[in-house]
Amino acid sequence: MKDSSGKCIVCERNVETGSKLSFCRLHLEAYKNIVENYGNWRNAYGDLKPEEFLRRLENNDYTGKWVKEVVRIMLSNRDLLQFFLDDLSYSGRKG
Ligand SMILES: [Zn+2]
Repeated sequence: MKDSSGKCIVCERNVETGSKLSFCRLHLEAYKNIVENYGNWRNAYGDLKPEEFLRRLENNDYTGKWVKEVVRIMLSNRDLLQFFLDDLSYSGRKG
């Protein structure tokens, strides 16, 4: 998942050490928030597909700038979206 440049794929800051993804600290935080939020949204909206969830986040005025940037990257990058889906199924198993 991580490319060799060591730069965040969103903003080109240095990638957070130990991250599996090519995100800097700020975008990694945003990504984690998205994963956590999906559980809440699914509880509220029932069977919400991850892609649908991301589109709703992108179009929500209350979504933060960092989160929106991460959402856009995920929707345009299949590998990243797949990584996100895997992360969701892990957190689903935990709960
Ligand atoms: Zn970044």
